[in-house]
Parts: sequence; C-alpha cells; structure tokens
Amino acid sequence: MHEISIMQSTLQLAEKYAREAGGTAISRICLRVGAVSGVVPEALEFAFDVLKKETLAKSASLHIERVPVEFTCSRCRSSLRLNEIRFDCPDCGELLTLGGGGAELELSHLELIQS
Ligand SMILES: [Zn+2]
Repeated sequence: MHEISIMQSTLQLAEKYAREAGGTAISRICLRVGAVSGVVPEALEFAFDVLKKETLAKSASLHIERVPVEFTCSRCRSSLRLNEIRFDCPDCGELLTLGGGGAELELSHLELIQS
C-alpha cells in the first residue's frame, strides 16, 4: 500500500512548513488527489490516522479534495469531468480521449496553530 509512504512524505512536508512558519501544531491538512493519480483516498485517510500520532499533526483533520479527470469525445466533441476512468462517451458511445487533469497529488493547504 503505497499510500503509507505518500502520507509519510506528506506529513514530513507539512511539519517542515509548520516549523518554518513557527507553528506549534497543525490543525488541518488539505490534499488534492486526482482521480487517476493511482491513490485511494480511503487508504490515505487510514494512513493519516495511523501516522499522525507522532507528528505535529496529531490532532489535525485531513481533507481530501478529489480532482476529476477530463475527457473529450473524438466524435461528438462533448467533454466531461469524471472521478473515474471511463472509455465510452455517454452521448454517442465513441471512445473517449483523456483530456488531462486528474493526476494531481499535492499538499494544497495547511492550517497551523501558533501559540
Ligand atoms: Zn461522443
């Protein structure tokens, strides 16, 4: 489960930012996770709960924003944004082309407690 190692690096990064900003604790971590990033949000949440205990984020909450992936249809040109991979156009049945987005995996926002 590579979500564990992803969460380890996320927490390390979050702690680094928090220390640099003079924070004593992290209250909220927001991640952007693309629909085709290969990461399972539920597994990230699980890893977060396990790993946060020894960090500045021990009482933090995790918010995961799912970023949809864009598809365009080569026949009818309809474009859609989905949270899952789909191969056929819902309008005409033609094969969809991956239009971009959805591969994001990033720390988007951090809330700190300063005392
Ligand atoms: Zn179509």
